[in-house]
Amino acid sequence: MDFSLTDEQKMVQQTVRDFVKRELFPLEGDVLRNEREGRPGIEPAKIRELQRKAREMGFWGINTPEEYGGANLGPLMTAVVSMELARTFVPFAFGGNADNILYYCNEEQKQRYLIPTINGERRSCFALTEPGAGSDAANIQMRAIQDGDDWILNGEKVFITNGNEADFAMVFAVTDAEKGAHGGVTCFLVDRDMGWRSTYIHTMGEWGPASLYFENVRVPSKNILGKLNGGFNLGMQWIGAGRWVIACRAVGVAERALQMAIDYSHTRVTFGKPIADRQAIQWMIADSHVEIEATRWLALYAAWLAEQKQDNRHASSIAKLHGSNMVNHVIDRVLQIHGGMGYTKELPVERWYREVRLWRIFEGTDEIQRFIISRNLLRGHVKVGEAL
Ligand SMILES: Cc1cc2nc3c(=O)[nH]c(=O)nc-3n(C[C@H](O)[C@H](O)[C@H](O)COP(=O)(O)OP(=O)(O)OC[C@H]3O[C@@H](n4cnc5c(N)ncnc54)[C@H](O)[C@@H]3O)c2cc1C
Repeated sequence: MDFSLTDEQKMVQQTVRDFVKRELFPLEGDVLRNEREGRPGIEPAKIRELQRKAREMGFWGINTPEEYGGANLGPLMTAVVSMELARTFVPFAFGGNADNILYYCNEEQKQRYLIPTINGERRSCFALTEPGAGSDAANIQMRAIQDGDDWILNGEKVFITNGNEADFAMVFAVTDAEKGAHGGVTCFLVDRDMGWRSTYIHTMGEWGPASLYFENVRVPSKNILGKLNGGFNLGMQWIGAGRWVIACRAVGVAERALQMAIDYSHTRVTFGKPIADRQAIQWMIADSHVEIEATRWLALYAAWLAEQKQDNRHASSIAKLHGSNMVNHVIDRVLQIHGGMGYTKELPVERWYREVRLWRIFEGTDEIQRFIISRNLLRGHVKVGEAL
């Protein structure tokens, strides 16, 4: 068994680490100040400039096949890169990526949706959740009724990330009411100018999703993504792809924050001694590191399974459940170690505290991950002790 990265993988890791330190860390003060004053943390033009710089270093389309100009680094390197990028809270991502399910576009759709999304000219959003169907996504009610060669969409989507910014949505609607999620849901590519509206939802984080409203929105049949009535599986594929990446991001955030707490504990003196000398603080540091390391290997294992083209759904749920809870525990301890300073907006700790709370909710809540893990075990799809 070999736990080490290859020389090439280490080089990629170091390059991203350097990029984050050189280009993104210096922006952190501005991001905190801008957000405190109600502005976006970083301007879109600045993001594009950084994406251009990253592209010159080869970081463009890290999951995008070479035929579309991407670096296509694969799941393991995506894991490593995600951990590195998450060390900063500057809201930045490398360019050149598209949602995994957009690769189901036919040739004509590729020109209109996939390729412009990869190139950053168009912005997508994934619209599955509805006011009455979140965890229970199979219960979506949005209807699409056929009218000649078009479909008429009616209904509401909620909590849609990028829903207020996107110019097209991947919308999941019931096209066969009897079958519902069992072969009666279709995914449509719906341009904003076909008539849907959105409203921004304010959240406890520094960004918000949107509600999407569809009132007799007419969508041509040629905008069906994949197969008619084949949409539910696409939706599950989209959600499944992100789970282990959340665990990777949890590692990056928690490591950076823990290092801040370690540094602070050496300099903060109470009752004549640095707080680092107190067992109460040492145990918080030790427990945090143990939990971070556990998530690292769970996340890398899920990524490794994907790299081997093996089913990683069980491992992804474990990594997501552990990672999203771990990062919440760690940030809470880091805030505690910083005392009153941790609670201020001078430091990013309270920002992380608010941001990572979401990670226990989206892309499958804690309870849904537990449901999936226990169902796999109880039904015998996965056997205890057979991970290797
Ligand atoms: C900021 C944000 C961004 C999001 N982005 C997107 C997006 O881009 N696209 C999209 O489609 N959706 C998105 N979502 C929706 C997200 O996926 C759902 O919020 C999530 O799946 C939970 O659904 P819900 O909010 O309806 O909660 P519910 O499903 O109503 O759950 C409420 C509570 O009950 C628990 N629960 C539910 N069922 C069970 C059960 N069977 N057993 C035990 N406990 C249960 C849940 O775990 C939770 O604690 C986003 C949400 C947020 C907050």
